[in-house]
Amino acid sequence: MKAVTGKTQLVGVMGYPVSHTLSPPMQNAAIEAAGLDAVYIPLCVKPELVSQAVRGLPALGFRGANVTIPHKISAFEQMDHLTDEARIIGAVNTIRVEEDGSLTGHNTDCLGAIWAVENAGATVKKSKVLVLGAGGAGRAVAAGAAMSGASSITLLNRTVEKAEEVVQELRKNLPAGDKVSWKTGPLAGDFGGVNFSEFDVLFQMTSLGMKGKKELEFPVDRLSSHCHLLDAVYSPLETDLMKTGKNLGLPVTDGLAMLIGQGVESFKFWFGVETDPETMRTALMRTLNL
Ligand code: NAP
Repeated sequence: MKAVTGKTQLVGVMGYPVSHTLSPPMQNAAIEAAGLDAVYIPLCVKPELVSQAVRGLPALGFRGANVTIPHKISAFEQMDHLTDEARIIGAVNTIRVEEDGSLTGHNTDCLGAIWAVENAGATVKKSKVLVLGAGGAGRAVAAGAAMSGASSITLLNRTVEKAEEVVQELRKNLPAGDKVSWKTGPLAGDFGGVNFSEFDVLFQMTSLGMKGKKELEFPVDRLSSHCHLLDAVYSPLETDLMKTGKNLGLPVTDGLAMLIGQGVESFKFWFGVETDPETMRTALMRTLNL
């Protein structure tokens, strides 16, 4: 057990519930590997107390915090400063307490998924991106792909209106001159007539394929063999979609890499140093008994 003293820097994750979070073992392993005197703890915060908890971070001497479901939008509203990522997405998953006690809100969910596929050899810049799902994760990844210079982004969702709203909002928030070509469609039937063979990267951001949920029905065989496939689901670590993709020879990245990607970016935002992603993965695999 690490010695925690009055000098130990504090970081944590606010969520409700927070018992399922994998961030403490992942971030504490990175802290230890970097030789920092810091500790990362889970913070169970009821929705009606989020503003008090967030505004209390400087008073409690915290260096910063992650914010997870369901607090990402409430936290956004409490920030003194926002990074471009947080402003464009309209949600905060990482807070940094500045020297003067003000709070800067950042969003590392968007770059986490981009980091994950690029770390595995894909290039998002100038590529044609397909995002399945327009919930919190789909929205963050679509924003991340746009910020990373994707040439086109197609967002398919069960509820098409939600995909349309996300695209409308992102177009409004992205800097003027943004050149992305956006498309939306349903996640079933003829998929809005999408030409699957044109995509370079596919981000699966629905909750389908999770343990206990039904599988996603998707024509993986219509993708090009160079299309890089990332599935956000990490329980199971290899979804049916990933298995099919692998069998067809597609490059495939798992959901843990996406979790690690946002963790790497949050760590850098608080401590100003890089961390070894493999340290994070080892800690996650141990925690998940994998
Ligand atoms: P969310 O905001 O609740 O969105 C859920 C998404 O899944 C929506 O697009 C929803 O479509 C779709 N969906 C749910 N049930 C469906 C069904 N029966 N048929 C078709 N579509 C369905 O959740 P989220 O936060 O975006 O998370 C989505 C997934 O990503 C979860 O599995 C989560 O664990 C995972 N995730 C992973 C990471 C990571 O680091 N690896 C990070 C964040 C999230 P509708 O809009 O039509 O309801």
